[in-house]
This record gives sequence, C-alpha cells and structure tokens, in this order.
Amino acid sequence: MNLKITLLPGDGIGPEVVSAAVDVMKVAAEKFNITLAFNEQLIGGCSYEKNGVPLTEEVLRACYDSDAILLGAVGGYQWDTLPQNLKPEAALLKLRKALGLFTNIRPAKVYSSLLSSSSLKPEILKGTDLIIFRELTGDVYFGEPRGFDDEKGWNTMIYHRFEVERIAKSAFEAARKRSKRVTSVDKANVLDCSQFWRKVVHEVHKDYQDITLSDMYVDNAAMQIVRDPKQFDVILTQNLFGDILSDIAAMITGSLGMLPSASLGAKYALYEPVHGSAPDIAGQGKANPLAAISSAAMMFAYSFQMSKAAKLIEAAIDKTLNMGYRTADIYSPNSILASTAQVKDAVIENFNQIYDEHALGVFTL
Ligand code: NAD
Repeated sequence: MNLKITLLPGDGIGPEVVSAAVDVMKVAAEKFNITLAFNEQLIGGCSYEKNGVPLTEEVLRACYDSDAILLGAVGGYQWDTLPQNLKPEAALLKLRKALGLFTNIRPAKVYSSLLSSSSLKPEILKGTDLIIFRELTGDVYFGEPRGFDDEKGWNTMIYHRFEVERIAKSAFEAARKRSKRVTSVDKANVLDCSQFWRKVVHEVHKDYQDITLSDMYVDNAAMQIVRDPKQFDVILTQNLFGDILSDIAAMITGSLGMLPSASLGAKYALYEPVHGSAPDIAGQGKANPLAAISSAAMMFAYSFQMSKAAKLIEAAIDKTLNMGYRTADIYSPNSILASTAQVKDAVIENFNQIYDEHALGVFTL
C-alpha cells in the first residue's frame, strides 16, 4: 500500500511535534509493509510570512491530492494584530471548510500512570474514556452576518439540517462500537439554533434505537465532565460548545499535550493534536509529542483501516508513560523529566518491542 500524507507542521511547537510523529509513523510503516510519501507544506503564521496569506491554493491542492493530512499547530503573538482573515487561525477554518471536514473527533482517555497529573482526584478520573464529536462546519464561526463597529459586535449562530444529520449519524455509529450511549449537548433552553439541533438529533436517533440518547445543556455538561467524567461515552455537540468542552476534557486528562484529534469529512481527513502552538515553550525541546503521535495513530485507524498499528502505537505510548518518561507539562516527582526527542525515542523503542512481542504472541492487544 502506497499512501500520500501532507504534513502541515505550522508554527511554534507544531514542527517539533509533527517531526516526532513522523518518526513514529515511519517505523510503523516499515513494520506493517506500507510506503508513506510525505509532502511538507506551510500553514499559519509561517505561510503568512512567506506568501502574505496563512493558506495558499497550492497547499490546498496538496491536501486534495493526499490520503491524509497531519497538522501541528498554528498561531503566535506576533500575528495577533493582523486582520481576521490573515490570522494564522483563519487558515484552519478555511482548510476545514475546503476539505469538507464536518466531524471533529476528540477522545479523552485517562492513562492510569497519569492519574496524578490531573487536578482532579484519581478516584473520579480512573477509567474515564469519553469521546467528543464536535460539529465543525456550522455555528457562530461561519454564520453571516458577522462583524463589529465602535458600538457593537455580532456573529450569527446557524445550523442547517444536513449538518446536524450527518454528525449525529457519525456519533451514533461510533457509539455502536463503544458503550452505546450518546449525550447531545446544546443550549436549547436559550438558543433557537440549539432547539433546532436537538429536534434533528432526535429525528436521526429514530434509526438508532439501540443507542441511549440523552440531552444536556452545555453549562451542565461543563460541570458534569469535571464532577463525574465516567458517566460519558460519546458526547455529540455544536462547534462552539465542542471547542470549549474538549479543552475541559483535556484538563481532566492531565495536559493538552496528551490529546489527539481527527477531523473527518466524506472524502478527506485531517489529524492534529488539540493543543495550540505553545509559543511559551517553542524551540526548547519541551513540547509533549504524545498528542501528535496519538493523532498519527488515529490516522492509521481511521484513514488506513490499520487498527492494529494504531493500537500498537497507543500501547507504546502507554508503556512509555508507565516507564516514567514525562515532558515538563505532565512531570511529577519520581518520574523522569524528558525532552520531546527522548519521549519520541522511547515510544519508538517500545513500539518495536511490543510489535515483536505481539508477533510472538507474548503481547496481546
Ligand atoms: P496552547 O495550546 O498553545 O498552550 C496552552 C498551554 O499549554 C501553554 O502553557 C503551553 O505551553 C501548553 N502546551 C500546549 N501544548 C503543549 C504540548 N504539546 N506540550 C507541552 N505543553 C503544551 O494555547 P494558547 O496559549 O491559548 O495559544 C497559543 C497559540 O496557539 C495562539 O496563537 C492560538 O491562537 C494558537 N492555537 C492554535 C490551535 C491550532 O492550531 N489548532 C489551537 C489552539 C490555539
């Protein structure tokens, strides 16, 4: 199998974590006898510096011509004062829209070795394994009219039936392979747009009667994720609420540096860590590469249907954490403070070892 992957490392720590993920992917590809061809392109602030825009048509064409895309992160303080359409973050919105990526999948799994890294009590966290399905193409991010003047600012929250239907289906399908529970999160007590969301989700649910569907207001959901995260299996939600809830879920897992994501459409797929470009630690070898490596594992699972490779990468991450390797963001006393490269090297070593043990039947998935 020959696969083309467009790499969009971006700004800040983006290039550091993407490079680590690529090293892991190369090792996995060799073991599983596939050929990966990488095509690296600019996005975000670095693209603005070279081309005057955060995303060029050439980069979009490279993405259209690939089997999957791996993105690092975009943004930095030096571009914060640019007009909205030239800001690095505008590239992400444009890219997601151009590729028709309508589902953002963010798993939040608590690794047992990291229970102490979270600000929550271990007994509340232990066993948490939830997944957030965030809608990506609608909501206040894209609705018109939008703008601001000296007296007021305004955005438009809008959802179309087809947008709600397709993500609801994705979430119900995923729940079927998990614990068969979907919590749809909205703000239907206040927002008309959310009332519409809820109505359509329930209509779609008629075809998924084996799945238990419940509704929750977003303010309550934010509280419940912190109070008792184990109650959730699949959380289905609008773009804006998903943006915020997934960061809350990030903190219960210990660090933003641990959270991967996949954005899927009918034709294209983009994988990226949830965290941003972390300008405060960029270029210092301090970035946690595990979210990016885990995003690469999701690529193997969702785009290449190589779930075994994905599980072995995840197992290698788990083992690396169990051995005590930690970047500063998840460091705790008695663990080993490691750089981005040291963590990546440990993941590769563990991957190779687990692969061999698996081949011999010593390690089972
Ligand atoms: P951030 O995620 O970049 O950083 C928040 C905090 O978490 C920082 O202290 C950072 O050091 C830490 N952190 C994040 N990722 C880490 C990792 N892998 N390892 C260790 N520590 C990590 O969020 P921010 O500071 O709000 O934003 C910085 C820039 O990133 C802004 O320009 C923002 O717009 C952009 N951003 C981009 C994306 C994206 O590209 N998808 C997402 C969020 C923010």
